[in-house]
This record gives sequence, C-alpha cells and structure tokens, in this order.
Amino acid sequence: MLSRTDLRGTTPTAAQLRRALPRGGTDVNAVLSTVSPVVQDVKDHGASAALDYGERFDKVRPASVRVPAEVIAEAAANLDPAVTAALQESIARARVVHADQRRSTVTTQVAPGGQVVEKWIPVRRVGLYVPGGNAVYPSSVVMNVVPAQEAGVASFVVASPPQADFGGWPHPAVLAACALLGVDEVWAVGGAQAVALLAYGGQEVDGAELDPVDLITGPGNIYVTAAKRLVRGVVGIDSEAGPTEIAVLADDSADPAHIAADLISQAEHDVLAASVLVTDSEALADAVDEQVAAQAATTKHAERVATALTGPQSGIVLVDDLEAGLRVVDEYAAEHLEIQTRDAAGVADRIRNAGAIFVGPYAPVSLGDYCAGSNHVLPTSGSARFASGLSVQTFLKGVHVIDYDQAALRTVADQVITLAEAEDLPAHGDAVKRRFIRRTTT
Ligand code: NAD
Repeated sequence: MLSRTDLRGTTPTAAQLRRALPRGGTDVNAVLSTVSPVVQDVKDHGASAALDYGERFDKVRPASVRVPAEVIAEAAANLDPAVTAALQESIARARVVHADQRRSTVTTQVAPGGQVVEKWIPVRRVGLYVPGGNAVYPSSVVMNVVPAQEAGVASFVVASPPQADFGGWPHPAVLAACALLGVDEVWAVGGAQAVALLAYGGQEVDGAELDPVDLITGPGNIYVTAAKRLVRGVVGIDSEAGPTEIAVLADDSADPAHIAADLISQAEHDVLAASVLVTDSEALADAVDEQVAAQAATTKHAERVATALTGPQSGIVLVDDLEAGLRVVDEYAAEHLEIQTRDAAGVADRIRNAGAIFVGPYAPVSLGDYCAGSNHVLPTSGSARFASGLSVQTFLKGVHVIDYDQAALRTVADQVITLAEAEDLPAHGDAVKRRFIRRTTT
C-alpha cells in the first residue's frame, strides 16, 4: 500500500535527500487571490462582512459574532462527563509542563553602574483560532490557551467556525473546552474572515466593538494559513501550519502493528497528512505494509486514510543502517517523530530536527495529541529545522531595559564615539559627548 523509496547503497547529500524524500505540502500562494479580497472586505467592513462570508462558506449565519455566555455555559453543562474529565486531565498535564516553561527576568551587570535587564512581557491580547471545518478540536483549545495563560496573557478571544448543526454557534465541545479553561469570549467565525476579524477588529452588527488582537495562534486549513500570511505584520502569528505529518524511525525490534496504527492515526487527520516510515529492515517494512492494509480497511475514516497513505507525501524509506536513518529523519524534520528502535532514548538524543520526539513503544503520537502534557501545535513541512512548537515563549516578548549611570557610560564613551564615526553617524557620538560637557550658567 505504501510507496517505497530505496536509499540503500547510496549516500545522498542533504540536497539529494530533500528531493528524494516523500513530501506533500500545500500551495498557499494558490489561494492568496481568493483570500485577499475576504481579508480586505473584513478589514473595511468588520463583523458584518465576516458574518456574510460565514453564511457563504459555512452555510449558516449566527445571531451574533460573539457567542452568548449562556450558550457557552449550556455547552459545558451538556458535555459528556467522560469527555469533561478527559479534557480536565489534558489541561492539568499541559499546565504542569507549560508552567515549567515560564521565563524569569535576567539582570546582567555589564560594568559597575551599568546593567541590562531582560524582561519577558506577555502580549496584551491573543486570538486563538480553533478549526471547525471537517472535524472539531477541543484539544486545540487546550493546546493554545494553556501556554498563553501560563505566559500571563490576560485577554483572549477564541474564534471557531459557525456550525449549521448547532444553531450557527461553534461546536459545543469547543465551547465547553473554552468554559473549562475560563475563556468567555468566543466568536462564531471561521476561515480567512476569522483571521481578518481577529487582526483588525471592528463593529459587531449589533454595535458592540470587537477588540483586535496582537497575536494569532492556532492551526487551520489552507484559507486560514493564507489569511495568516496576509495579516502577518499587522499582528504576530505563531506559524503557517501545513498538513500534519509523522515519521517513524524503526529497526527490526519494532512492533509492526504499533507502527501501522500510528501511521494510520496520522492519516486520519487529513487526505494531505503525511505518514512516513524510515527503516533499515525490509522485513519490518513488509510487515508494516501488511498491518497497514489490514488495519486501514476497518478504520472508521478508511477512505481519508487510504488517500493520505497512498499520496506522494507518504511512504516507506529503506536505508542501510540506523546512521543513514538518522540522517534521513533529520533532513525530513518531521512534525512528529517516533523512535521505535533498540536504545530508543539514546537514538532520540541524537535527533536535531523534529517538532516533537516520541521515544519507545509506549509513547505514540496520540498521547502527545491529547494527554502527554506536551504541546500538539508543532512545526510542519520541514520547518522543525528552524522552528519550535507552541509554548509559553510564543506568547512572550523579550524587552531589554538598559540602565547606566554617568560613570558606567564614561567607561565606554570612547568606543561608542569611535563606532559612531566609523559608521559616519557623528550625531550619535555627539549624543554621548554632550553628557560629559560641563555646562556653565550665565
Ligand atoms: P478550518 O476551521 O481550518 O477551516 C474551515 C473554514 O474554511 C470555514 O469556516 C470556511 O470559512 C473556510 N473555507 C472553506 N472552504 C472555503 C473556500 N472555498 N474558500 C474560502 N474559505 C473557505 O477547518 P478544516 O477545514 O477542518 O481544517 C483544519 C486543519 O487544521 C486541518 O488541515 C487539520 O489537519 C489542521 N489541524 C492541525 C492541528 C495541529 O496541531 N497541527 C490541530 C488540529 C487541526
């Protein structure tokens, strides 16, 4: 079922690997011309335009952009108690991990009387996009809100598409997750129009002012990603998330049934999702193929899974040995990387590029999706070579506070003046000189 890339007997360069490995991806540029007028219209006309686009794309128009408090409370009250308890566990575990990511103020004494303080300040207001097109993701509410709360962000709005089946409000599970996290501002708007409304704010149709945000986080489809690209700069964005992906680095000690289950679980997200196995064992590759065929046939979303697993973005990569496998997975830089080898922890220690690393047979990606305590919003499409997943750091800005007295400035005045003159900016040097001229009063 899975296509094969055979790299055995070769030592490909990084450039060759980049071309050879299975890789999908979406062309965000291709939808910019569709999304750009939506963003401009919402910028010009605010919430009423956003509601119009919701009516067109989501086939429903909620009574207001802002979801009434009683609708959120009702969703929380009616949530299946088992789901409530599971979400609470997910929140509790995420909270302890993200609390440990908090940063403290650092003061560096550079010279007597001269210090630089690095302060970490949370952004004022954050917009959290929670997808709601093909599936609902209360877990994404947790993964966005918890790090923001632990960073000290005080003002949140969650935006999620209106659902025709639920009177035009976002899915009740999303609303319930918001309630569990203490988020009371939720907008029933999705897609590019949601991103634009978060970035620019605007008058609601009933006259209430919608406050724009400073940072937008959260995953979404290609229209959401394109809109994030367009508003970047007006607001911050976390990343341009592409389709989700898993790579498994495995040797002949791995259980093929586990690997197949994990490849299928990722493919279940999206027809564009990527599932890649990298192994030095042809016998394991064959056994995984058999297991995939058996398990994929009976899984609930069999059609979506089959499309994802047979797409150009998925497959099995055969390598000579573990060393070659390490080079492949480092170049691939998977959003999720599982290590299913002997001494999995030792192998994991040698990985440079991955959004998150899942070590050994009992750490499947599904655990990280919901309840490991780690964040599930992770860099995709190879961006794990230079980017990180969502964390407390995403919601903080570092600010340097420079505090020098006159004696401290004197110790370095000559060097500042020299550098200013070397850059032909003598007024910069004068600004320092002036502080040492004795002024006479007449
Ligand atoms: P979504 O909320 O991202 O998109 C739905 C919106 O798309 C609709 O509200 C509509 O406004 C807009 N839209 C639909 N068709 C359109 C068109 N033709 N033109 C303009 N706008 C249109 O929900 P989705 O579609 O289900 O996508 C969610 C994505 O998020 C998936 O790719 C999923 O894999 C990803 N995801 C990623 C993570 C992660 O942590 N990486 C978590 C959850 C979901």
